[in-house]
Amino acid sequence: MARRPGHPTYSKRFMGNTNKKEVHDLDNEKTGRNECQIDEIIQAEHAVTFTPDTLSQAHSEDYDNCAHCIGSSRR
Ligand SMILES: [Zn+2]
Repeated sequence: MARRPGHPTYSKRFMGNTNKKEVHDLDNEKTGRNECQIDEIIQAEHAVTFTPDTLSQAHSEDYDNCAHCIGSSRR
């Protein structure tokens, strides 16, 4: 899997999980059990995107790195 067109990510690279306050890199999505779980986040309506679509913008909104697709948790 990778970037997804349409609601709610509109082919953007970075997606936040509002529930866990984590940011995922959809260009490096990990689909194993208990990894990114992007589809589950979207289904739960916990997905947000960032403007601009950058990791530093996600960090400025207090999102932490996903351990699987980005790594180096900042918490
Ligand atoms: Zn991830």
